[in-house]
Amino acid sequence: MTEMVTETSNITIQELQPALIEHFKKLTTMNQLAHAYLFAGQEGVGKIELSQWIAMRLFCTADEDLKPCGVCAECRRILSGNHPDVVVVKPDGQSIKVDQIRFLKSEFSKSGVEGNQKVFIIEKAESMTASAANSLLKFLEEPVGTVTAFLLTENKNQILPTIQSRCQLVNFAALSQDKLIQSLLNKGVLKDQANLLVHVTESISRAEELSQDENFIEMTKQVWNWFNKLLKNDTESFILVQTKLVPLVKEKNQQLLMADLIILLARDCLLVRYNRKEQISFSDRLAEIDKVIQLISDEKLVEILDNCLQIKNLLQTNIAFQSVLESTTLKLIDL
Ligand SMILES: [Zn+2]
Repeated sequence: MTEMVTETSNITIQELQPALIEHFKKLTTMNQLAHAYLFAGQEGVGKIELSQWIAMRLFCTADEDLKPCGVCAECRRILSGNHPDVVVVKPDGQSIKVDQIRFLKSEFSKSGVEGNQKVFIIEKAESMTASAANSLLKFLEEPVGTVTAFLLTENKNQILPTIQSRCQLVNFAALSQDKLIQSLLNKGVLKDQANLLVHVTESISRAEELSQDENFIEMTKQVWNWFNKLLKNDTESFILVQTKLVPLVKEKNQQLLMADLIILLARDCLLVRYNRKEQISFSDRLAEIDKVIQLISDEKLVEILDNCLQIKNLLQTNIAFQSVLESTTLKLIDL
């Protein structure tokens, strides 16, 4: 028995979404699958893997213990996207076009055998054009033979209500931080960096992207440098805002990212103070944080976090990022 391995990591879908696997194990065993499902959830939570798992349950020739084998010819063809009765539709460029849906329908009407099981999986279903969505809608209303449809989306609000109403909605829970960290480690991201990244984003691909982003890596370094000096009441921290921090954040989303890093550092200080070291984000700075907060009172640490949290609010107004950081620095330094 080979465990099915997901495309994005070495975590099996059984480990990723155990409750959903149990749910669909029952439905497939009792032959009670709905005609169409809308799988909604962040990228990386196992939507494609679960739809493939269900398809394999339907076609596997060596299914045992209510699990598809993952290695028979049927399973392998499904996993490689080459099964004639399991059709996967992906965006062609930015969108899924009406021709792709027409092609899908023609493929499915070819089958002469009544009751022949067929599955189609539409990735990024929210990217269907209006005409593609309408064409699909007719198909969902009048399916040919035994068809099971999986529409996958990261944003169910962008799916036409008429389509939603034809599908059973399955919400995928976001991955726990432990699972995210494990996935990142499997992709070669270092432990300390993975620790930090899962506090910055819930998306595996975004975390992976940031792990290779020079600007982000420099940002984490410079934010720590500034924060460390601030905690030591070093007035150089004021200068660092203009010379080191501001040049790294030209765009609003970068400013928000930097604000997040600052908040995480302030939070880390309190976590270390209250002996919850295993929860900190900047785990590579643990020893330094531990040392620098020795001379700082609990009240002061709370005041620091409070002021750091306000940076994000101030960014919503039109005050320049540099001014926000400079005034925060001045407020927190005890001269
Ligand atoms: Zn199999």
